[in-house]
Formats: sequence, C-alpha cells, structure tokens
Amino acid sequence: MNYNELTAHEILENIKAKKCSASDVYNATYEHIDKVEDKVNAYVRVAPKEDTTSSIDETASTPIPIAIKDNICIENKETTCSSQILKGFTAPYNATVIDKLKNTGAIFVGHANMDEFAFGSSTENSSCGVTHNPWNLNHVPGGSSGGSTAAVAANEAIWAIGSDTGGSIRQPASFCGVVGLKPTYGRVSRYGLLAFASSLDQIGPITKDMTDSALLLNILAGYDPMDSTSANIDVPDYTQSLVNDVKGLKIGIPKEFFIDGIDPEVKDGVNEAIELLKKQGASFQEVSLPHTEYAVATYYIVATAEASSNLARYDGVQYGQRKMASETRKTKLVDMYEETRAQGFGEETKRRVMLGTYCLSSGYYDDYYLKGLKVRTLIKNDLDKVFEECDAIITPTSPTTAFKIGEKAKDPLSMYLSDIFTISANLSGIPAVSLPCGFSKAGLPIGLQIMAKPFDEQMLFKIGYTYEQQTPWHKKRTQLT
Ligand code: GLN
Repeated sequence: MNYNELTAHEILENIKAKKCSASDVYNATYEHIDKVEDKVNAYVRVAPKEDTTSSIDETASTPIPIAIKDNICIENKETTCSSQILKGFTAPYNATVIDKLKNTGAIFVGHANMDEFAFGSSTENSSCGVTHNPWNLNHVPGGSSGGSTAAVAANEAIWAIGSDTGGSIRQPASFCGVVGLKPTYGRVSRYGLLAFASSLDQIGPITKDMTDSALLLNILAGYDPMDSTSANIDVPDYTQSLVNDVKGLKIGIPKEFFIDGIDPEVKDGVNEAIELLKKQGASFQEVSLPHTEYAVATYYIVATAEASSNLARYDGVQYGQRKMASETRKTKLVDMYEETRAQGFGEETKRRVMLGTYCLSSGYYDDYYLKGLKVRTLIKNDLDKVFEECDAIITPTSPTTAFKIGEKAKDPLSMYLSDIFTISANLSGIPAVSLPCGFSKAGLPIGLQIMAKPFDEQMLFKIGYTYEQQTPWHKKRTQLT
C-alpha cells in the first residue's frame, strides 16, 4: 500500500518504527494529487508544495497531511466558501481548529471544494466546478463538504475537516465511503468558521476509520473563549473509547426513518450492520421519532433564516469582491450592494437568502421562523425521550448512495429531501457519525449513521469501532491513477 493510502494511526506507527518519515507521506500525497486531482477536483486551492516541505516537523505528534474545507479560515490564505463573492478575501487570522492542528504539526494540503457557503448536498453548487466521487467519477461526492470527503477517499489527503449544518460531513462521508463525525454542538470551536446557520454549524473530522476520527477529534475538541457557544466541558481522550465491546448496549431504530423511497441496497446494508451488532451483544428496539416528517421543513426555515442574516455582511464593503453598477444606469451606494450580490452569489445562495429573508420578515416571522423554532424543540424532545431508554440510535445516513452528477441539480426539493436522516442531529445538537457499511452492486459506498446523547461522542466510537472490527469496508481504497 502507498503511504497516502494509509490511515494516520498506521502512519504514526510506521514513523515510530522508522519505516517511513512524515516527508515520505507528504511526498506520496502530493505525487498522487498531481495524478488524480484533475479528475476529482477535490480542492479549490492546493497549497504549493514548497510552502510546506520545509515546515514539516518530523518530531511533531501528528505530522499528517490534511485538507481543510474552504469555509475555515487559515491566516494569510484565501478562504472563499467556494463563492465568487469572496474571491480575493484573505483570512486575517486562523480558525481555532487550525491553530490546534498547527500545534500538533498537521500539514495543510489545501482548501477543499464545497457547495457555495455550504448550501447543498452534492458540491454542484460550488462556483469552482463540481467535485467528482472517487468511487465513480460520474457521481457526486455528496455535500456540502464533498471536496473534503473526496480528498480523503481519493487518497489526496490523510485527514480532512468539514462543517456540518444539516449533514454536510456525514452525507458526503457516506457517499465517499469514509468516516465523518458531527460533534455535539459546542464541542468544537466555531471561531474562524464562516457562518452558515450559527445555531446548527459544527466543525468535525473526516477520516478513513474510527480510530483516526478519535485521534482527530482529540485535537479539535475543547472549550474556546473566542466562541460564545463553545461548551466548557472536559474533553475525554476519545481513543479510550475505541473498544471492541457493545455488550449490553441498547440501540434504537426509529421506525420513521425506514421510509418508502429508501434504496433497498441501503436498507439491506444497514440491516446487516444491525444484525452484526446484535451478534456482538447489543440489543435493538424499535423507537419512534414522531416529528421526523417535519424535520426537513423545519431545517430549511431555521437554516435559511440564519443564513440570510449571516450573509448580509457580504455587501462589497468589507470582504472579497466589489462590483460597481454601471455608471449610466445606477449610481447609489445601494446599487453597489445590489450589483455585488447579484454577481457574487450563485443561484442556490440567492434562493436561500430570499427564503430566509421572507421567513424573518415582519408578518411572517411568527408564522414561519417562530413556528420552526417550536417544532425544532419538539424534534429535540422526541430524541431526549428515546435517549431515556437507549444509548444510541442507528439509521442509514442517506436514503440513497451517491447520485449521478446533474441528476438532482435542477430539482432543489428532491435535493433537500436527501438530508432527511441527518438534520435531526443538527436541530437537536446531538453528536452523530457516518461510517461505511458496505457497497452497492454498482460499487458505491453505503453509510451507517450512529447518533448519541449530547457530549457522548464516546458512544459513537465504541459502537463504530466494534463494527469496524468485524467488517472490511473501512479498509477499501479507491484505485484512481
Ligand atoms: N444539505 C444541507 C443543506 O443544503 C446541509 C448543508 C450543511 O450541512 N452545510 O443545507
């Protein structure tokens, strides 16, 4: 196996045993990027090689090449959310997660492609071109962190970080056959993450297996005074939860999640995983999350409302691109705002700004936004109730495997419905992970989602790691050349 196909824990063992160096891994990663990036388009910007070679600290704790989603600020680097409106914007400071990664010696390979401002489920809404799924280049990688998950699946990075507002780490992880974890809201600092919906956004790790996920979450997690929503709660060592033992655990299967329209191969993959965990000693019971049918509508009200407010700052004055209105036609300041936003934002971004502004406008605020918040509480209450008797919940991550590029691009509603299984975790703030649980006949990965109580990421590691010990899926690598 090439160095860039290894997991970080394997690399660290090899470095320790002097079988390879951090530079070997770094060089192998860049050589592979040269070969396959034209086909995958995982990155919007690859860091020039010479920039980082000299800065590799061979003695650092984790000198691991990592891709960063293009909505996370790296000091003095262009950071654009894959949007034209932020072209030329250079981040004045590091996001907290970047500082934490730097302290461990992690090596930034580049900013990864994403749906513009993280609006989407396929990475087709990027202004930097679509990313291709490394398992089948005609298919989407999922989204919005599709560049990050494709980079890991294509062996163009060992690790990646993404952000998850409604499933944007887990759904693309499921489509790309990698592990993507959304931590509890408040577990990882959002300082330096360009906001989409502030009450839902979380940064999280994207890796090849659960062990790497624990290693990376160990680095990312923790209280940050720079983020007022950051939780001041002790961070355990997540690697301690990598135990092959689910005996006595009670796991819920929500009946509302096994709906019509779910791909039979996905259903079978998840059911096989459930059987396997039963054999390991976990017990399963059917549970009910009665407000699930309102989750998509609620999410698209709350998320677009917050997004419209967050995106008001992109007006051509402080950040990125400024477009002047034609002098003969328009001359006022407001015309500059209009022109900048008309040219700088893509179609989906405009749709969300309009939808969100409408939901927040006087007269409609109570009917939409306020009602949305109330239903959000009902969804959270449903989950709280299930967690009174269950340690975790298991579901598919997405109703389908990766769809074809272009298949849903013209139908926003069917795209929105692909988030049905992931958004409840964001609306209620709980942690959830997607890990590979098989492949379809067409050779596309299937994802298993595990959800747990707030701040109980350990449970995700326990169940996910046990599952991995019995299955080969996390060891499969794409073979692009
Ligand atoms: N697909 C969802 C959306 O389009 C989730 C996006 C996200 O988590 N950033 O909003």
